[in-house]
Amino acid sequence: MASDNRKTMLREYPWWWEGTALARPEEQAAVSLPQRVDVAIVGAGLTGLTAAHTLAEAGRSVLVLDAGRPGGGASSRNGAMLGRYFKHSFGQLKEAAGLDTAIAYFRELCGVYDFAVKRIETLGFGSGFRKCGRVVGAITPGHRDRLFREWELRAKHVGEAVDFIHRADDPELPTKRYVGGVHIIENAAVHPGRYSMAHLQAARAAGATVIGNMPVLGVSRNGSAFVVATARGNVQVRDVLIATNGYTPKSQSWFSRRLSPIDAFMVATAPLAPEKLARLCAGNRTYHDNRKNSNYYQLSDSRLIFGGRTGLFHTSLAQMAGKLREEMVHFFPELDGVDITHAWTGRCAATGDMFPHVGKHDGVHFAIGYCFSGLAMAPYLGHKAALRMLGKHEAARTLFTQDDLRHVAWPKRQSFLIPLAMHYYRMREPLPK
Ligand SMILES: Cc1cc2nc3c(=O)[nH]c(=O)nc-3n(C[C@H](O)[C@H](O)[C@H](O)COP(=O)(O)OP(=O)(O)OC[C@H]3O[C@@H](n4cnc5c(N)ncnc54)[C@H](O)[C@@H]3O)c2cc1C
Repeated sequence: MASDNRKTMLREYPWWWEGTALARPEEQAAVSLPQRVDVAIVGAGLTGLTAAHTLAEAGRSVLVLDAGRPGGGASSRNGAMLGRYFKHSFGQLKEAAGLDTAIAYFRELCGVYDFAVKRIETLGFGSGFRKCGRVVGAITPGHRDRLFREWELRAKHVGEAVDFIHRADDPELPTKRYVGGVHIIENAAVHPGRYSMAHLQAARAAGATVIGNMPVLGVSRNGSAFVVATARGNVQVRDVLIATNGYTPKSQSWFSRRLSPIDAFMVATAPLAPEKLARLCAGNRTYHDNRKNSNYYQLSDSRLIFGGRTGLFHTSLAQMAGKLREEMVHFFPELDGVDITHAWTGRCAATGDMFPHVGKHDGVHFAIGYCFSGLAMAPYLGHKAALRMLGKHEAARTLFTQDDLRHVAWPKRQSFLIPLAMHYYRMREPLPK
């Protein structure tokens, strides 16, 4: 079907921003740049804001600088699925590193999820948070077998609660395109715009200064301390945290050479009629399939929020929205003719070993590389980085610590080559006709 965005003016920003401060013109409060602070944090997403919160609560003076709107990076542009995820499967990790290592990583992943949920509950980030479970669908019997093998391992070795969906007509499956799947019980959803803004408010309430539209131009050593350079002057700091993930600029070359930035794309439909909603995603969970380049979606305020085409090249957001709409209609033919109201993109980053990492290079702390699973992991590693700065080494301990990150090979960090790799994955796992 050809793209059809004519009926509604396409809004080229995240649906998640509607009703939050991110959709309003920024109030430019005259915050003056301090000359000296204990800690400067580069990047005001979930990583930077959580680190700022922990540090400010511990009595440190903290300055968070963001190149754009605080909270306006991937943290408010994402698929909203909060779970126990990173890019490695249990099966792969068990083969590569042994059963004990796989169990250790996946146990920590459960701790990462619990940390995020506890923070949401204790800090009152509840708005939009729901413990809804997640359904992962399989589009072929082969994919279903792979999914079952993985989740049998996770249930057996980590104790994860999961229901196996064997039949294509199981009411848990939101689309006839799935031949089976799994329902993961302990998974949740957030409202990314509100989640991001709650982190911003918490950091500020704890005493951190957060300034937007203030790109950090460079970080240099000054004896045992650092100088953070901005267009409005320099700041002397004792510690620095790099929390820029997918938006890490090339000027931060040690970090940018260790990250592969990947763009992802999402659309929101117009509100759906009640009879359509009743049939669609009946369990109101979060959903995706288990292809490498998958589609993911959920309902929000009677709209379908649909993502995919990760890493592909698009000439414009309108063109992308047309393509993503075709994929949405493939899964939900009943949505043919429904308007797309919002289309947006966000950028994440992968490291060379596809694990997220927290660490310290040449005295500069970092927490990066979430590879599209940062909603729980970014606050967790931001917090761990803060604990390390506070000298709480035991509490800062995590399997994700690695000071000496390896390079990402040159082709894997070139924006013009990433779409080719993604096309390759899509050709290997095409959607059945
Ligand atoms: C479309 C999409 C879907 C996703 N879906 C999910 C999901 O369903 N579940 C999940 O767990 N994760 C998901 N993710 C991943 C998750 O959103 C990220 O991992 C997480 O938000 C990363 O947070 P962050 O704070 O590290 O980075 P960001 O929120 O991206 O913040 C980085 C900030 O650094 C700033 N910055 C860059 N350069 C500078 C500079 N020189 N000076 C100052 N500031 C600078 C940027 O402006 C930006 O605000 C998704 C991501 C995308 C893009």
